[in-house]
This record gives sequence, C-alpha cells and structure tokens, in this order.
Amino acid sequence: MGQLRLIDRDYVDFTNLQRQWLFDEADARDEVPKAIAAARRLRHLNSGVQIEPLVTDVTPSNIEELMIGCDLILDGTDNFETRYLLNDISVKQDVPWIYGAAIGSYGIVMPISPKQGPCFACVYPEPPAGAQPTCDVNGVLASATASVAALQVALALRLLVGWPDFTCRIQTLDVWEGTAKQFSTGPRDPECRVCVGREFLYLEGHRQKPVSLCGRNAVQLHESARPLDLQQLATRLRPLGDVRVNEFALRIELPKYHMTFFPDGRAIIKGTTDIGVAKSLYARLVGA
Ligand SMILES: [Zn+2]
Repeated sequence: MGQLRLIDRDYVDFTNLQRQWLFDEADARDEVPKAIAAARRLRHLNSGVQIEPLVTDVTPSNIEELMIGCDLILDGTDNFETRYLLNDISVKQDVPWIYGAAIGSYGIVMPISPKQGPCFACVYPEPPAGAQPTCDVNGVLASATASVAALQVALALRLLVGWPDFTCRIQTLDVWEGTAKQFSTGPRDPECRVCVGREFLYLEGHRQKPVSLCGRNAVQLHESARPLDLQQLATRLRPLGDVRVNEFALRIELPKYHMTFFPDGRAIIKGTTDIGVAKSLYARLVGA
C-alpha cells in the first residue's frame, strides 16, 4: 500500500480554487486546512492509498520528524527558505526531492538525487536577491501549475522505480508562449557547502526567519512552542468580533484585520504586512 504524507500550514481560500483542484467552494467557505481538504478529496479518488495530512509549518525543528519513512519529497512550497531546508534534509538523509515552481505562465522543474548528482545548492548557491515575482503580484495560470505538477509526478515515478542513469536536468516551460526547454545542470559543484561541505545552515536554523510573510497581504507568526485551546480562545475572543471555530482553526474578523489561529500556536494575520502590527495583535489577543 502506498503512503502519502501531505504537509501544509495554510487553509483553503477562494483565490486558490482556480489552480488548486483538490479543493472546492465549500472548503474555502469553511476555511478547511489545505492538508485536510486534500486528504479528503484524494481518499475519494483512491482509498487504497494511506494518506496522512498534517497541518503544520515545515521548520528546522520538525522536519526530521516529518521525514520519517519518506522515500521522496515533492516540493509544493512557495519560498526559497523552505526549499533550502528541504535540500538540507534531502542531502543529510539521502532522500531525493523534486523542485517545482510556477509563476505567471512559466514553470520550472528539477529532480535532485543527492547520491547521484548535484544538489539544489550546487545549482542555486544562494537565494535570489531582492524582491521576487509572487503569485499575488504576478498571478499564476492554472495550466502552468498543472504542467509543473505533471512533470514532477513523472520524475517522482522515475525516481521511485529506480533511475540507474540519473541525470539532473532543469526543465522549463512557458504555457503562454508554448515553449519548453531542457538543459543539463552539469556535475556537482566541488565547492558546494551542502552536498560537499555538509554544512546544513537551514536545517540548523541559522537562516530561519522568526516570521514569514505569506503573501495575500498577510503575516504568519510562528508560536509553535505554545499550543492553543481553540474552544477556550473562542470564548475569550467572542466579545471582540465575529469568531468561527472548528477543530482545525479559529478565525476572528476584526474591523481592519482577519486573524486565523491554529492549534499549534501559529497565526496568520491578514490585512497587514507589518510584522510589528501582527505581533502586537497576537500579543493583545493571545498574550505576549
Ligand atoms: Zn550541492
């Protein structure tokens, strides 16, 4: 029996539905966590697969535990910080992963098999500098994400059945222009700090930001060390605004902000990109 571990920290939003086909309007209306909604849908498609949804952030402190028993990692993330963390764990534990990204009509895919070829840091030693295009600003076509996913799945199958003559190639495509390119990454970088130097800066937490901006005019606060009792919090917060709570999340609508709290202590604050504002809201509602 196959096993699939789905990890996501976010909940379904109406703006996701155009390209994230495992979700529907009811999931967005009920603000179901994406991992839970995806697991429900996939179980309807194939009850023979054991699916384990986890509503959590992937961080240096939990990634080793999250990886237990995994043969392969599929990247569905939206930021370089997490991808470097995936690369660190992939190299450290020799588990292959497949990088995939899409923006606008453009997509890129690259398989990484640490024993057989270069790692992500060999090809991209540092994250790109400056502001990057994002799905919120630039938009993304559903056909671009679908194409990237299709290529990732083909590479995943190839890696899982064994790929003796593995070659690391970058594939890019533009669904609007109708173009596709493929080029070799070349061999491992003899000076790579990760796969040659075995220096795992992201895994050791040296590069972790305490707060991540997750687009959509929102800030995520990690307070994972302090789990929250959502029912208790709901009782406390009801006098302040409209509160909706289920077993996965609590959402409160304040005049200028929407806040969503998760049982592990995380919160997503919509309506600001100011970390200070987000932190003070969290402190006011939950405690500093
Ligand atoms: Zn490397």
